[in-house]
Amino acid sequence: MELRSIYWFRNDLRLSDNLSLNKALDNSKYILFLFVDDESNRQHTSWEFMRTDTHRETFIYQGISSLDKALKSYGHSLHVLKGNTVEILNKIVKEHHIDSIFCEEIVASEENEQIKVLKKLNVNIKSIFQSSLFNVKQLPFDIKNMPDVFTKFRKCMDLEKIEPNNPEQLSDNIKNILPINFNSPKITVKKIHRHKGSSFPIYIDNFMGGELNAMENIKKYFQSNLPQSYKDTRNNLIGINFSTKFSPWLALGFISPRQIYAYLKHYELKFLANESTYWIFFELLWRDFFRFIFIKYGDKFFYKSGLGLNPVKINHNAKNLEAWIKGKTSNSFINAGMIELYKTGFLSNRMRQIVASYLVNELSCDWRSGASWFESQLIDYDVYSNYGNWAYIAGCGTDPRGGRHFNIEKQRKIYDPDGIYQQIWNKS
Ligand SMILES: Cc1cc2nc3c(=O)[nH]c(=O)nc-3n(C[C@H](O)[C@H](O)[C@H](O)COP(=O)(O)OP(=O)(O)OC[C@H]3O[C@@H](n4cnc5c(N)ncnc54)[C@H](O)[C@@H]3O)c2cc1C
Repeated sequence: MELRSIYWFRNDLRLSDNLSLNKALDNSKYILFLFVDDESNRQHTSWEFMRTDTHRETFIYQGISSLDKALKSYGHSLHVLKGNTVEILNKIVKEHHIDSIFCEEIVASEENEQIKVLKKLNVNIKSIFQSSLFNVKQLPFDIKNMPDVFTKFRKCMDLEKIEPNNPEQLSDNIKNILPINFNSPKITVKKIHRHKGSSFPIYIDNFMGGELNAMENIKKYFQSNLPQSYKDTRNNLIGINFSTKFSPWLALGFISPRQIYAYLKHYELKFLANESTYWIFFELLWRDFFRFIFIKYGDKFFYKSGLGLNPVKINHNAKNLEAWIKGKTSNSFINAGMIELYKTGFLSNRMRQIVASYLVNELSCDWRSGASWFESQLIDYDVYSNYGNWAYIAGCGTDPRGGRHFNIEKQRKIYDPDGIYQQIWNKS
């Protein structure tokens, strides 16, 4: 048995169905629960804006504050420190004689690098990749043979009729394990500006980050009849109920996709299974697709040419990027989307596609600058889904058609025919 461990929360800010956390609880006598707000979050990116802006930061802090409360009910605390993650962990390991660090595995370059450096210290690092619906080991192929095209991937999964694993309960050892004595600053959560039109209003109690709210919202969703019409409404632009709004809860791991899947199956058994309910699963499969593709291609997702499957010519235009970010392009539909994103930290899937296509195709900007802006703003920022979708639209990811060039006027006519969306955001 490991004696003294750190559980290092990353994008898995929950107690239930957390495989890596259970492993830590079952293999340690003393434990310290830690979250590090890395110094890079407050630094500027190479595109010259803040890496993590107010909405995302606030949503994260709402979530860690809720996690701290949950841990306190078991006699523990969540210790939140700001600074260089590796240096902080190194210091705690030495000063508190830590044997093991347990955490979730994130397969993106910076997160991989942190683990690489930590592995050189005199401490065991035990990480589990646990943010997908399906376990990597369940895939009916070796990850290096992961299909590059989503449809092929989906058909493989359908054919094999593989079911996701059931969610795990929190280990009972949480009641026995002893806290390591440690002092850390009090967690403070910033207040956020209220914006009436927000499709995910994190200034309202129920929408604040955290496991409890995540569970409540998902339960509520599956107690309503919204799943029955999801496929018909999912491309809308305005409001709370047109899509599931699971992504912010999923991105920070306030809930796991396995937990959502369990609710979905229960709904289908009890009420109705139709094309719409299947489509919720279909979209969660997209989420998994980008995760597994990331494992296959790794850092290529951050290259200008992406996966390099198609030739890409980019002549980045910094002025155009600035106009896009500020919602000051010559297109008021695009501006409305960009203002919504900046003011609320959320944007519908359809609007994400439209503004991304505009940046890449009409404004000739490097797709990574757009991905980076989304990273800074989105409360549901997720490295795999964000860079995967951006590369897809820019034609340097996994789109078999070589990228998406949306006809903006056509999209406006379909999705904002009477200009209500533009009115909400351009006048805000
Ligand atoms: C350019 C661009 C960037 C994006 N960046 C992110 C991101 O950083 N984080 C993120 O979670 N999603 C991202 N998406 C995917 C998608 O827009 C959001 O997941 C979705 O809008 C969230 O709202 P929802 O939960 O109501 O989605 P719903 O339509 O209700 O979908 C249900 C769930 O399926 C998953 N899902 C749906 N569409 C996609 C998709 N295209 N790719 C991957 N998963 C999907 C999400 O987990 C979502 O919560 C991006 C899409 C585009 C086009």
